[in-house]
Amino acid sequence: VNEKKTALVTGANKGIGFAIAQGLGAIGFTVAVGARDDARRAAAVERLQAAGVDAFGVALDVTDDDSVSAAAEQLTGGLDVLVNNAGISGRFDDGAQDPTTLDLDVLRTVLDTNVFGVVRVTNAMLPLLQRANAPRIVNVSSNMGSLTLQTGPIMAAYAPSKSMLNSLTAQYARRLAETAVIVNACCPGYVATDFTGFNAPRTAEQGAAIAIRLATLPDDGPRGGFFDDAGVVPW
Ligand code: NDP
Repeated sequence: VNEKKTALVTGANKGIGFAIAQGLGAIGFTVAVGARDDARRAAAVERLQAAGVDAFGVALDVTDDDSVSAAAEQLTGGLDVLVNNAGISGRFDDGAQDPTTLDLDVLRTVLDTNVFGVVRVTNAMLPLLQRANAPRIVNVSSNMGSLTLQTGPIMAAYAPSKSMLNSLTAQYARRLAETAVIVNACCPGYVATDFTGFNAPRTAEQGAAIAIRLATLPDDGPRGGFFDDAGVVPW
């Protein structure tokens, strides 16, 4: 019997996702490196393995039904943790994310990855997760999705995509309340990655910490919440 737990991280080839993969690997998880690009995925797996992580690649474009079902097929050996990390900001030049001139194609593209992608991946992986002893789902959100905080620049595609992801987190948690599956959302903080043009104060490792904590919650841990390093983030 293989006692090792397996974690799938989407968008794990770089940035916060890579750091989550590395961090989970360091505490003994086998890591399924979900990434859409073959070369970037192979390079990430190689880097993780060189760092001593038990990692393997899973071709995964969260916007593609066939890609997601093939990924689920590949993971039938078992899945304990799903981290929905893959996300995009969408174009924001030329008022593309000014609400008054919002480019509907940008809105559609951002929702397709940040919202539809999460639902697609989660529902494909849930049958696998439900067979695990301590299944956990972590949705990597953003405090820009907090309707209470109203923080960050005005980004009328990205911010609402994370508000909707937060809402979905609550819906999943309620639906799965009587099961072992624990679902939460997190905010990594403002992290230096390609996403922010590396102009941000936090490292990818710092951004990954809250996701790793939620991925390894005890059975009596919180459900359906939104957390960052400092604790609860208001919806
Ligand atoms: P990066 O741009 O560095 O990484 C994003 C990852 O998502 C990449 O691996 C990218 O793959 C992947 N991805 C994008 N679209 C798809 C897709 N369709 N299918 C599969 N993978 C995809 O960003 P970060 O690491 O900074 O962001 C990770 C998460 O953290 C996102 O959800 C983001 O919204 C969130 N976040 C980030 C903050 C920050 O300050 N950086 C702040 C708050 C939240 P590829 O290389 O192929 O493009």
